Amino acid sequence: MQKRAGAVVGVVAVLAALLGHAAGAAPSAPAGPADDRFDAITGPMSQFVVRPGDFGIDPARTLVSVPPLLAAVDGARAFSIIEQLNFPRTSSGPESARQDARDIVSGALEDAGYAVEQQSVVLNGIDSPNLYAELPGTECAERTIVIGGHYDNANAQGGGSDDNASGVAGMLELARALKDHPLPVTVRFASWSYEEDGLIGAYAMAEQMESDGDEVVGAVSLEMIGFSEPDIDPLTGLPGTYLAMISDPTSAPLAQAWGAASYAYTPEFPAFGAVISPTVLPDILRSDHAAFLASGFPVLMATDTANFRNENYHQPTDTPDTIDQDFLAGSIRSALAGLVTFGSIDQDQDGQADACTQDLTPVTTTTPTTTTTTTTAPATAPAGATPIATDPSYTG
Ligand SMILES: [Zn+2]
Repeated sequence: MQKRAGAVVGVVAVLAALLGHAAGAAPSAPAGPADDRFDAITGPMSQFVVRPGDFGIDPARTLVSVPPLLAAVDGARAFSIIEQLNFPRTSSGPESARQDARDIVSGALEDAGYAVEQQSVVLNGIDSPNLYAELPGTECAERTIVIGGHYDNANAQGGGSDDNASGVAGMLELARALKDHPLPVTVRFASWSYEEDGLIGAYAMAEQMESDGDEVVGAVSLEMIGFSEPDIDPLTGLPGTYLAMISDPTSAPLAQAWGAASYAYTPEFPAFGAVISPTVLPDILRSDHAAFLASGFPVLMATDTANFRNENYHQPTDTPDTIDQDFLAGSIRSALAGLVTFGSIDQDQDGQADACTQDLTPVTTTTPTTTTTTTTAPATAPAGATPIATDPSYTG
């Protein structure tokens, strides 16, 4: 997770002030079945949460069955990746450290049966390439979902366990789970470099895919998915034990599908989709998915909310012993459910995945902070978001 411009200490206060305007507003009434998981959300993020009435899909209508795949997720194996990556791998440190990190990632992908590709990413004359591996789609291989996490870290004395060895470990576990169960669309499992220096690796990949004319139907960043704490989170009124899966309004179908998938398939784990404008919460663009959004692709970030929850953020204390292995496993299962659901949902039941048949005609968006085009369906922000999103005083 990138640091926000300006001092990170103060960001929480600024956001609390920004979002505080909405804190007294009544949450939008759930349009679907009542559920304690949603009723319990009381904080300012409440109005942006994707509730059952906003899912837009029936998650039972997937072409690839989700439940058997969830059993393949191994939290201990994912945690072992975090332990292996417990060393500094910053842009200011030696390239050999980042090479060591890549060797761990490549080794795990190869062990899972993948051929690993590299994409050159140069910063200050030093090439620290992106890594990726692809699982070809069975129905529309020309369309791709990109999912991954950056392998560099921010603190020259730290191991970057939550930020972002946890995301890397999650990506690797997803790749293992799906290897013999491909989706209708191609999945590209990625690990990006130089994220902490401005999403440099992710921009290289997104711009390459854009210039190649690749049909990216979704790009997902797993950005800090391993930390939990019992304290009440002021953003939601929930204990800090949930995973947030956040899209901007132009990418709403991603958050809807992922929210629906978690609701249906991992009810034991608190995870929800949310659709939030960057003008309301600029922090939603602080990870690799933002580079893909800039290239006009729909995006989502799955996160434990980073510095809003984890006091070890960008500190030497971001170490494996602070990672909650059960939370990590829950995050990965939710991500797997979301990935399989989005990649194989057949809502109209015509036998073809919607990700293969959906219209990709770009539509220009007018989101103030991102002048871009998008290939997703028209934005469908949850009811209640509009007054905040369009209030000119919310400039971030
Ligand atoms: Zn970071």
